[in-house]
Amino acid sequence: MISSNRVQDKENRETFPQHPRRDFLKLLAVSSAAGLVLPPGFASASVRPNRITDLRVWSAPDYTRIVFDTNQVAKYSLFKLSNPERLVVDLQDISLDVPASRMNQSDSVVTRIRTGAPSPNVVRTVFELSSEIRPRSFVLKATADKSHRLVLDLFRKDYVAEEEKTPEPVKKTSSARNAVIVIDPGHGGEDPGAVGFNGTMEKDVVFQVAQKMARQINQIPGLQAQLTRTGDYFVSLRQRVSIARLHSADLFVSLHADAFRTAGARGASVYALSERGKPTPDRAINNLVQRENNADLIGGIDLNTVADPEVRGILMDLSQRASLNRALIFGKNLLQEMGSLPQTTLHYNEVKQAGFAVLKAPDVPSVLVELSFLSNPKEEKLLRQSSHQESLARALVSGTRKFIQASHLA
Ligand SMILES: [Zn+2]
Repeated sequence: MISSNRVQDKENRETFPQHPRRDFLKLLAVSSAAGLVLPPGFASASVRPNRITDLRVWSAPDYTRIVFDTNQVAKYSLFKLSNPERLVVDLQDISLDVPASRMNQSDSVVTRIRTGAPSPNVVRTVFELSSEIRPRSFVLKATADKSHRLVLDLFRKDYVAEEEKTPEPVKKTSSARNAVIVIDPGHGGEDPGAVGFNGTMEKDVVFQVAQKMARQINQIPGLQAQLTRTGDYFVSLRQRVSIARLHSADLFVSLHADAFRTAGARGASVYALSERGKPTPDRAINNLVQRENNADLIGGIDLNTVADPEVRGILMDLSQRASLNRALIFGKNLLQEMGSLPQTTLHYNEVKQAGFAVLKAPDVPSVLVELSFLSNPKEEKLLRQSSHQESLARALVSGTRKFIQASHLA
């Protein structure tokens, strides 16, 4: 096809894929330094050029997320090319300051990453793709822990969601139906959650406990587990709630690990949603809610997309009131089981209520469990241990089973 040949030529003419990457990066560094002639005494800070300082690739089942770190807000443009499929991103007025090895990242969608310079001060990155994608892009401003970021989401066009493959959704009224427990490992991808003194990341330990829980639940007749994420990638709070609703979840458990400014804080806690308008009980819980609800900002959500009113704040209707009452009893069961573990203390002896966005499915009893404190070196060490994770999972599954049996869900 004429048009596709033309665009292909365009990409080839303006990039240097034949250069060994290392040499090429050097070349870029030299050319940008040479082009910058400063008058004597000129403050370099005022003309500090923008730089790309890192590039990360995260793989979700239905899309690949690519994140560029830049030290100022990036100016960019992107276009797609076919035969073969490629996505080309040009960043303007910027230099590349990323180790060549970072360009070796790939996954099932992105098979190769190449860089080039179609004109001075423009860095072109070409993503070679295994299949056709639908791109989405946005920039995120720097936060306390993160630099400015350019985010590219490459949605797979050939992806068929697991749910869509099922010929017929199982109805909640069927007596043969399994009770569905949706387990939600908090954070993921760009968002590590709390980080312990020894570098343990909340996103990793909660994922490991979630997997152990799911394995145990799926061995119990009548129960079925579903995870909101199956790897290390970002899932927005709204998506986590929709996954629970999509699976007609009977229960939703969001797993987290707490952090506090003093190393002495310890123990597990369980939260349910608070009634709308009710203030959160204390400052520590208020800070926790803010941290957990900030996950979208850190993990990378396009704030220009319209927020779902479901998560934004809904009226507490009758069905939600019923869900909340059930969540409070369910949470109590979980606390009892965790409290009976020899190595686990309880941070609070009762289920606390606060405005966690991830608990806002109106029709699913939802709780958020803080397994213990990553800011406590002893608990951090325990949380890394597979045997301790297994016991925590067993306690949570046992509490879940008891609740389900008592409420005749299974
Ligand atoms: Zn968390």
